Amino acid sequence: MNSLVCVKQVPDTTAVKIDPVTNTLIREGVPSILNPFDGFALEMALRLREQAGGTVTLLSMGPPQAAETLRTCLAVGGDRAFLVSGREFGGSDTLATSYILSCAVKALEERTGERFDVIFCGKQAIDGDTGQVGPELAEHLDLPQITYATDAVQENGRLRVRRETAEGYEVLECGLPAVVSVTKTAYELRYATVKGIFFSNRAEIPVITPQEMEGKIDLSRAGLKGSPTKVKKSFTPQRSKQCALVDEASPAASGTRLAALLFEANKI
Ligand SMILES: Cc1cc2nc3c(=O)[nH]c(=O)nc-3n(C[C@H](O)[C@H](O)[C@H](O)COP(=O)(O)OP(=O)(O)OC[C@H]3O[C@@H](n4cnc5c(N)ncnc54)[C@H](O)[C@@H]3O)c2cc1C
Repeated sequence: MNSLVCVKQVPDTTAVKIDPVTNTLIREGVPSILNPFDGFALEMALRLREQAGGTVTLLSMGPPQAAETLRTCLAVGGDRAFLVSGREFGGSDTLATSYILSCAVKALEERTGERFDVIFCGKQAIDGDTGQVGPELAEHLDLPQITYATDAVQENGRLRVRRETAEGYEVLECGLPAVVSVTKTAYELRYATVKGIFFSNRAEIPVITPQEMEGKIDLSRAGLKGSPTKVKKSFTPQRSKQCALVDEASPAASGTRLAALLFEANKI
């Protein structure tokens, strides 16, 4: 069972601020981390490898420093990693990103001579937060997809996936290859081992460039020019706090007064 896990390097959003003048993210001095949902996806792929054999390959699109995130993934047990990078890809929106990733998947399959049985993505990236890349990737590759997965096992050459729904959970089965996007699981990403850290430090991370994909990618669908999304404005919403103390003569009177205040504020 060969898995490919798409991972994104994201700013640690607890520390992110927006520049009020340029309306862009202030990235200077903000630490970068592995997108947490991609960590859950990686752990799911590693468990699947333990159950059914095969390999776990990592793929990320980003600037050269995104290789650090790929090394983090190799240290916890990934077999190999590839970075998709190039100036032509900068400014891509989700449609362009998923298109570029789909071209990279095809290029990798050709390069390694292996087919990926499962392509894992996180449910969403914590910076862009759209949750669109996984489903769009499935469409570009014309593959079935299962979203909001919380566990996946191989059974008789098929994939059995437990997924979260608004009401609870459901178990689905699908043929392979397939795309699976992963939400928070009951398990955390395992820790790196010393052996894993040595391996990841020495591992070569090949960069897939636009030139390398020549003939296999339509560059007019990549980068800012190939992105139909236009960001008109971004801003940090102003928050205000108002406090009203409800302290009537009795608990019942306080309840009535509280209900009246909530009603006036259109909250109930
Ligand atoms: C006009 C425009 C220009 C932009 N320019 C840039 C830019 O120059 N640089 C930039 O970093 N962002 C840029 N972005 C943001 C970028 O489009 C999104 O971050 C990216 O498309 C992923 O979308 P998301 O973060 O909402 O991911 P989601 O759809 O929320 O991610 C879901 C999953 O898809 C996978 N995934 C997502 N992105 C990647 C990736 N890059 N590599 C591997 N797997 C991935 C992960 O598994 C992730 O968990 C731009 C956006 C717009 C609208």
